Amino acid sequence: MNNNHCHHSHHNHNHANNKPDEVKPGDWHTCPMHPEVIQERPGMCPICGMALVPAKPPKKIPTEHDKHKGHKKTDFLVKFYVTLALTIPILLYSDVIMMAFGWNAPRFPGVDYLMFVLGSVVFFYGGGVFLTSAYRELRARLPGMMTLIAIAITAAYGFSAYVTFAGGAHTLFWELATLIAVMLIGHYIEMRAVQGAKGALRELARLLPDMAEKLTQNSSAAAADKTQSYNSKLKTNSEIVPISELKEGDMVLVRPGAKVPADGKIIEGQSELNESIITGESKPAVKKAGDEVIAGSINGDGSLIVQVTKIGENTFLAGIMRLVAEAEASKSRLQMLSDRAAFYLAIIAVVGGLMTLLVWLFLGKDAFFAVERVVAVLVIACPHALGLAIPLVASISTTMGAKNGLLVRRRLALEEARNINIVLFDKTGTLTKGEFGVYSILPSENHSEEEVLRLAASINSRSEHPLAKAILAKAEEKNISLASISDFERVAGKGAKAQVGDSLAAVGNRDLMADFEVRADDYFAGKVSGLEKQGKTVVHVAKGRELIGSIALADMIRPESKDAIKKLKEMGIRSAMITGDSEDVAKWVAGELGLDQYFARVLPEEKSDKVKLLQEQGMKVAMVGDGINDAPALTQSDLGVAIGAGTNVAIESAGIVLVKSDPGDIPKIIKLSRLTYVKMIQNIFWAAGYNIVAMPIAAGALYAQGIVLNPAVAAVFMSLSTVIVAINAVLLRRRSLG
Ligand code: ADP
Ligand code: MG
Repeated sequence: MNNNHCHHSHHNHNHANNKPDEVKPGDWHTCPMHPEVIQERPGMCPICGMALVPAKPPKKIPTEHDKHKGHKKTDFLVKFYVTLALTIPILLYSDVIMMAFGWNAPRFPGVDYLMFVLGSVVFFYGGGVFLTSAYRELRARLPGMMTLIAIAITAAYGFSAYVTFAGGAHTLFWELATLIAVMLIGHYIEMRAVQGAKGALRELARLLPDMAEKLTQNSSAAAADKTQSYNSKLKTNSEIVPISELKEGDMVLVRPGAKVPADGKIIEGQSELNESIITGESKPAVKKAGDEVIAGSINGDGSLIVQVTKIGENTFLAGIMRLVAEAEASKSRLQMLSDRAAFYLAIIAVVGGLMTLLVWLFLGKDAFFAVERVVAVLVIACPHALGLAIPLVASISTTMGAKNGLLVRRRLALEEARNINIVLFDKTGTLTKGEFGVYSILPSENHSEEEVLRLAASINSRSEHPLAKAILAKAEEKNISLASISDFERVAGKGAKAQVGDSLAAVGNRDLMADFEVRADDYFAGKVSGLEKQGKTVVHVAKGRELIGSIALADMIRPESKDAIKKLKEMGIRSAMITGDSEDVAKWVAGELGLDQYFARVLPEEKSDKVKLLQEQGMKVAMVGDGINDAPALTQSDLGVAIGAGTNVAIESAGIVLVKSDPGDIPKIIKLSRLTYVKMIQNIFWAAGYNIVAMPIAAGALYAQGIVLNPAVAAVFMSLSTVIVAINAVLLRRRSLG
């Protein structure tokens, strides 16, 4: 399994790395501790979680193989054991142990020099990683944790070396050795904790199988051959290939219980597919020939022959993985805050360390005591935990979202979601299914139903609007032949018009009829109004200036809508609807759903104005739409949510995409946002609060009370705070969004 994830988790990075022509110097980022990590986007080190720093572009683009070479988590363990072995003799000769246990190590000439040699090995061999890492931080002009540790151990080592050769008695070798040993094991434990928390991307990558069963050339042809029986196709030849060898158009066999290796279309067979990990939908979906399948979903009891339509980077799953990676790299407000805090902490530590040194020397303490305090201050101030506090939570919450069918495209949008006061839903296609059916046809005097339908369908034959589709479907059902039209034109938010024969004809709402000077006020006030009050969308058809008749269409309110609005109400959030449909229809839908507010007869270009209006009243507005004319409103809103089935435009302008097109997922977004925020604040507290409390103690503020902090103990606390932050982040996974 381990192999498996390594293999796939790099797909992502590789994508970026495959385009060397786009690489600009300074665009590359590396981990101070793991120089083998080199990628274009900033973010945190996949190995240890440290913030990546800018770096020179690599001489050669790293390949999968190179990356694996660097995965030596155990390096730290080896260095730790060696350091530990050397620390024991150093400890035996240290004054603390001698004093504490009344032990007297046999003295021999040159024992001080032996301590110096052992200390030097520990410093260069064990501490070397920290020194080189600090060098990388400084080269990137981003002094951070490694810089602090390097200054600390160099100060301790330099001081001790000086004392050894100047013939003094007190060195800091045992403190130096224990500090480095603790730092090494601490970093090893941190790496494990961080990898546990950072498994988000890997978890998704693990959904993909390694191998696929590809039908060979002859059998592929057989699979496409309609005359051959299904069973005989299954018996045809197949070979097992790594999924990297799959090509679009290949036929693959998906056996019962197996994972779908690539996005594709079912050619043969029927089965129930479990797509829960991708869509969050726990009920298996029944799929048959012609239906699409998603890579990573799990096949039920039937065998399927699937034609591959999308592979690798283009699959739905790869898309999600990219989103998670982007979300990890895109910095939220809190992240920027904590980054800045970490930077200042490093500076405060250096200044604080210097002041500690001067104050103790000024107070008449010896250099030994003063340097020891400085080392403790520098170690305790390490901002590692602070640097991790937010990104770990961010990555877990993005994955949690993805697993619940919420694709977070912009982290800021998710962060903003907890402050939302009002959710503005688009009506057609969002609160309703957007699948209209013709309910009734009302011809004017001297016209027939057939005439009304024929004219409406003819004009709408070039329209993609859900209303147009319904009218066309009805015309087809009734075998009505269409008239030829010319000069077709859409009238956004109102309808459509075209030239039919000698006259201009139009189909659309009352506003469009008014534009055409079609007058039938009594008519509108009568039958039509009655239908609209029952929630039917009524469109009118006119030719010349004469009203030919009207068509009432019915849409279905999504069953999930009502529940979503109820849940929002419980959360103290208002719900509103915005639609281009008539006042009466809007009122009816609003009543059915228990909406707090609605805006009717809103033209597409006015939708974003309504959002602005609400924002000017001091509200934080979420806009939910399918993108058919609401993209500007999605952009204007504080949180734009696109319904997955909608157009690509909407997905581009939205901060969050709902894979299942279920309005019931809106309360989930808000819950996820609130949970995430609380976790982030908790983590900042654990990471920074501890620094603030511990730094004065490390500086010796409680010396008068007999409390001093040994550098190695400081290192234990420092690592502990990182581990707490990582564990606290992981606990977010346990929360349910339901
Ligand atoms: P919504 O805001 O509910 O998504 P639109 O802005 O797309 O609705 O359309 C508003 C109104 O314009 C519809 O309710 C309908 O009356 C009319 N309309 C729009 N397009 C068409 C069309 N192709 N055929 C008939 N009527 C249309
Ligand atoms: Mg719409």
